[in-house]
Amino acid sequence: MIPAASPALQPAAAPHAGAPDWKRLWREAVRDPRELLGLVGLPQLAARMSDAAAAQFPLRVPRGFVARMRHGDPHDPLLRQVLPLDEEERVVAGFGLDAVGDAAARAGAGVIRKYRGRALLVATGSCAVHCRYCFRRHFPYAEETAAAQGWREAVALVAADASIEEVILSGGDPLSLATAKLAELSSALAAIPHVVRLRIHSRLPMVLPERVDAELLAWLRALPWPVAFVLHANHANEFDAQVDVALARLRDAGVGLLNQAVLLRGVNDSVDALAALSARAWAAGVLPYYLHQLDRVAGTAHFEVPDEEARALHRALAARLPGYLVPRLVREVPGDTGKRPL
Ligand SMILES: *Cc1c(COP(=O)(O)O)cnc(C)c1O
Ligand code: SF4
Repeated sequence: MIPAASPALQPAAAPHAGAPDWKRLWREAVRDPRELLGLVGLPQLAARMSDAAAAQFPLRVPRGFVARMRHGDPHDPLLRQVLPLDEEERVVAGFGLDAVGDAAARAGAGVIRKYRGRALLVATGSCAVHCRYCFRRHFPYAEETAAAQGWREAVALVAADASIEEVILSGGDPLSLATAKLAELSSALAAIPHVVRLRIHSRLPMVLPERVDAELLAWLRALPWPVAFVLHANHANEFDAQVDVALARLRDAGVGLLNQAVLLRGVNDSVDALAALSARAWAAGVLPYYLHQLDRVAGTAHFEVPDEEARALHRALAARLPGYLVPRLVREVPGDTGKRPL
């Protein structure tokens, strides 16, 4: 447990009535690595932190997520996902700035076209949490967000290409935008007959479940398409009662919930951790979708699990769980027509 800085940071039973405003909780996120270490009782880890890594990609983590970390455990799987360590400064061959070929697949401002029938919108560069392994940590967000200029260029691109059936809101985290901004986009897309599905990729219900508020739910309910919602949880400990409530509300609004995880050394690189993640996700009404091999992005090499080990873990997982709880083990390869199974 962390010492409660303010009563508003205690998990609320219901994120609606009297719940703290998500924007305020967003602003109050921990941004100072030393404060984070103090909150989890690990001041001695300061010696292993990297100011250079924190300057390149600053620490950011909502206090509710910090509260789910185990106090005094330097190997906590949630802490490891957010703490800027000196390992990030290591230069490793094969780890570059654009590991997934986003630059080549750019179709317009904030629009990435890689796979048939789907257009991915980099809705915004902002995230509530900064994940150290993120493949977008070097992405030139300033020029590249689809929400800039009222989504005009992105909507025009989608409208002009009748092969696009599905629009994927990604980022950054698209739910870091105000709901009114999302509604602006959905209204414009609703006028395009060939768009028949909407997908949202967001980590916010996991790291800041207060984001799933009445306004967001009303927007989701009113959308003219079935919505697939792809969460991002890497470890069972990321779930708690408040996350469960947020996810139940999303399901109640007619949203289909899937999870994608990244296979990460020191976070979820064991059969037990992966099986617990699938089981915990299912208990919250979420189907495992993808288990991604790490994108080889500069500063993330210490998170990598070699392919052979990844395959062995995946085989062991399949031998233990029902088929519907086994995510597909994939890697993103630039130029491929879809995620590549390992
Ligand atoms: C991953 C990805 C998608 C979605 O792929 P699915 O296999 O349908 O989940 C779409 N566009 C881009 C650019 C992607 O990287
Ligand atoms: S895009 Fe997703 S993985 Fe990357 S920092 Fe944001 S929330 Fe984390």
